[in-house]
Amino acid sequence: MKRTANFWTHEPFCLESVEAKNGFCVYTNAKFARGRGISFVATPNDIQYVLQAKIFRKGLQNEATTSSPGALKYYRKASQELFLSQFTQEGRDPYIDRMDKNAFNVQMGKSRQFFSGALPETARFNHDCRPSTVYHINPETLQHQSFVVRPIKAGEEITLSYLPPYLNSTSRRNLLSQSWGFDCTCKLCTASAATKRHSDLRLLKIESIIAELNILPSKRIIDPKKAEELVRLHEQEGLWGNIGGAHMYVAMEYEVLGNRKMAKKWAGVAKESLGLLSGEGHEYHFAMKRILGEDVGSERPYARHL
Ligand SMILES: [Zn+2]
Repeated sequence: MKRTANFWTHEPFCLESVEAKNGFCVYTNAKFARGRGISFVATPNDIQYVLQAKIFRKGLQNEATTSSPGALKYYRKASQELFLSQFTQEGRDPYIDRMDKNAFNVQMGKSRQFFSGALPETARFNHDCRPSTVYHINPETLQHQSFVVRPIKAGEEITLSYLPPYLNSTSRRNLLSQSWGFDCTCKLCTASAATKRHSDLRLLKIESIIAELNILPSKRIIDPKKAEELVRLHEQEGLWGNIGGAHMYVAMEYEVLGNRKMAKKWAGVAKESLGLLSGEGHEYHFAMKRILGEDVGSERPYARHL
């Protein structure tokens, strides 16, 4: 890979990992984002995927840098402090634990490989099982964008969800306690047992409808009403950040039925809600644009589970 030689501001250093049956190297460009700096821990093979992201192909806006050794030490002091300001538990490795507790899944480059990304500012958002924002990370620009999905009252904390959306109350409690070491005190988790039971039942229903709608259209009855029920369940559950997937299913059902008018109506709604949930470069967003008859250009979409 020709450009790699000149791309990193410091010589990559590598360690063999017996566990991973591979060697990992630390690649650093201390000039990234006007001197904020960026480091990747990746195999020599995977790092090539990273460099295929648009932001690296376009070249970097450079500024002067330091030449001190060690991946984190390359950065400005402010960047180090930012990383170290993230949550960690006592007695754990200060770097690995901060990654475990705070990192986001980031897809990058042409192959859309998954990496764990440290994004310290947004990692400070606290969790809520029914959060006020949804986010996605653009694999081409590495921008993390958060969007408000419901009204936020003055003084109310802005939150995001650390968890997959359809976990029941017991699974959420167990996962948050095991992985992050806290008991969730969000409105849903502190509601009455009856409210939580109703919520758990709705979540089961959501998963069963999604499973049905994922069966090939040729092997089932096409039923837009079922997909519309999925939208209603998301509304009742307050899963505003994830409702885009439900809007998309309704559009697809009408599309398969050949009802162009309704397919377009729902694709318009889904295009907007999916734009927040998964970003405009996602394959589902492209699918909605196709239903609407819009040009999708030559850009290759990325895929990510919703
Ligand atoms: Zn909760």
